[in-house]
Amino acid sequence: MNIFKKAYCRIFQTVFKIAIPLLPYRQPKILRSVNDCADILIGANISKAFIVTDRGVIDCGLCDALFSALDDADIKYCIYDKTVPNPTVSVVEDARNEYTANGCSALIAVGGGSAMDLAKAVGARIVRPKKSLNKMAGILKVRKKLPLSIAVPTTAGTGSETTIAAVITDETTHRKYAINDFPLIPKYAVLDYKLTLGLPKTMTAYTGMDALTHAVEAFIGRSTTKKTRKCAVDAVKLVHENLKTCYDEPTNADARRNMLFAAHYAGIAFTESYVGYVHAIAHSLSGRYGLQHGMTCSTLLPVVLESYGKATHKKLAVLARECGIATDTDKASVAAEKFIAWIRDMNEYLGIPKGFAEINEADIDDMAKYADKEGNPLYPVPKLFGRKQLKQIYYKVKS
Ligand SMILES: [Zn+2]
Repeated sequence: MNIFKKAYCRIFQTVFKIAIPLLPYRQPKILRSVNDCADILIGANISKAFIVTDRGVIDCGLCDALFSALDDADIKYCIYDKTVPNPTVSVVEDARNEYTANGCSALIAVGGGSAMDLAKAVGARIVRPKKSLNKMAGILKVRKKLPLSIAVPTTAGTGSETTIAAVITDETTHRKYAINDFPLIPKYAVLDYKLTLGLPKTMTAYTGMDALTHAVEAFIGRSTTKKTRKCAVDAVKLVHENLKTCYDEPTNADARRNMLFAAHYAGIAFTESYVGYVHAIAHSLSGRYGLQHGMTCSTLLPVVLESYGKATHKKLAVLARECGIATDTDKASVAAEKFIAWIRDMNEYLGIPKGFAEINEADIDDMAKYADKEGNPLYPVPKLFGRKQLKQIYYKVKS
């Protein structure tokens, strides 16, 4: 990256960092059970809710308690079960049409990041009927209050219930982009670990490592605050202590509860302190090849951390020491190496690939362009990469 663009990126990021305390960040109010949703809807005079979920979630019975709670309270609802991984513009439009055709006035997302992102994007289109999703890509382009929104995560990973972001894929260009604005933060989040007990092993692994990536990227970035640093450290420690247990013992209640909070804290950390190039690159890869988001991030995480080099040693050393992976006497560079080695061990243990056979050399230029567009100047990364350096990372994970 040339020196002028570097200066522009850093000035842009500094302005945003200074603005953090002035921006209307809020956290969703936490509910411990889906039963509480009915009271919330009654209190808000909602007669019909729009439930955004997918067939798998319904078939596993994860919506049953919600359906009963709404039935008991005589609240009508419309079920949209066509959520797809990496939601596309056309799915958002389809869901939005059903929402309006059925006269709904609140959104409840039940599922992983895709359901929550889809619900956010539907909400954005409802209040912005004349603005296309593509036009809302970037930051602060919604600027209008969404219908009442409740997020019910059934995976412990995305933290989407806390964030200002909805990640959408434009199926015509394969571009995956984030719409970021404060009204997208759901008003309520139901953190009920019982909903994550049935999560398959692979999804436990992918989503758990996604939460780790959020916490690490937020922590090593240059726009942290005392609050986001604490949330990130807590999240990393919880992942370190609980993810393997969740993977090996899927019904371990304590480990499941802890991972749900790990994901939530990581979400709070990155919504104010951003992610970094792992996510920028991962979005381009999953947008192009449909790769699962958390898996793609976990594969990239050690590679990107190594590429940052010395710029991250001190911060990774803090995380390594907090987790007990390194000692106080280890030099920062050694402690950082131990932290990266731990991530690689986790990936190996959890069956996460080291690279992707899907990557086609002919696509790398385009993908690096998208990653550059997403990451620069928005993400306050520890070290700035231009397109050339970003391209090298695609080659490193091409198998
Ligand atoms: Zn992520």
